[in-house]
Amino acid sequence: MSVFIDFNQSIYPFPAKPMRLNTDEKQFYRERIKALLIEKNAVIVAHYYTDPEIQALAEETGGCVADSLEMARFGARHSAATLLVAGVRFMGETAKILSPEKNVLMPTLDAECSLDLGCPEEDFARFCDEHPDRTVVVYANTSAAVKARADWVVTSSIAVELIDYLDSLGEKIIWAPDRHLGRYVQQKTGADILCWQGACIVHDEFKTQSLSKMKALYPEAAVLVHPESPQAIVDFADVVGSTSQLIKAAQTLPNKSLIVATDKGIFYKMQQACPEKSLYIAPTAGEGATCRTCAHCPWMAMNGLKAITQALESYGEQHQIHVSDNLREKAMLPLNRMLDFAESLSAK
Ligand code: SF4
Repeated sequence: MSVFIDFNQSIYPFPAKPMRLNTDEKQFYRERIKALLIEKNAVIVAHYYTDPEIQALAEETGGCVADSLEMARFGARHSAATLLVAGVRFMGETAKILSPEKNVLMPTLDAECSLDLGCPEEDFARFCDEHPDRTVVVYANTSAAVKARADWVVTSSIAVELIDYLDSLGEKIIWAPDRHLGRYVQQKTGADILCWQGACIVHDEFKTQSLSKMKALYPEAAVLVHPESPQAIVDFADVVGSTSQLIKAAQTLPNKSLIVATDKGIFYKMQQACPEKSLYIAPTAGEGATCRTCAHCPWMAMNGLKAITQALESYGEQHQIHVSDNLREKAMLPLNRMLDFAESLSAK
């Protein structure tokens, strides 16, 4: 059974696009960041959706480029005193929860996520209180406070497996905040899920009609879809998976061309994985070219070279992630459950 609660969706104001840098400026900031990382014993932990130049710099300097699960693991394992998290705020918070002894810096604390914004702590706590018989599973894309209210945290890479496991124990579930991923997981597992109605502004914009036309244009192309996308887009998919799973699929599928429905930041690592293949971003605009994100998260785009330099130079409060001890202890439990569960899956 799946019950969907109808919450009003807010329209979020988008941040201004970072100022474009010329080639000399980029080179200047790159060199400055490299020097600062050494001087401050810091490492860059970047998400697949950041701009290619940030991902390249992370790789060049011994950092990581990964999905949110692997970012969390990498940050916790690494010996650096400072983690520079290039992503959105919940990723910085997760890093701080798992590595409280480290400085966790972000280029900007204004890098939000529509899923996190769409699931405010108090509303969510009330919702959970109304359904005390349900196990609370929240997606990684939530605030530390929402994680602290949960029994489990999960990422898209292990969501189906975790819900399947909980279902096998006979547990009824509250899922938050992404409604599309919640529906996808419910269909895959048949679990009893009560779903919060959040959405990712990037994936929510992929358009079926335009995708259908694109597929007609490239009939040989495989369609790769992230499960934060609407049902009609998922129905088009040859492969549905998390960012890491889509990169792997791009490499292993026999198709020479791929249409990809997720943030186009993923193309940096995907093209590395299969340099000989042609990659096309799934259409978001429809006929009217009305896309707001055009397949790139406006908050991920805030992680620019200049902002990273400023964070590492100043260690200012406007870049520091703090999580109170009380919140950290509560959020740590469901996060550790997720990490242990992921570990047990990879040991199989
Ligand atoms: S791409 Fe979507 S889910 Fe990811 S950070 Fe941006 S708004 Fe959140």
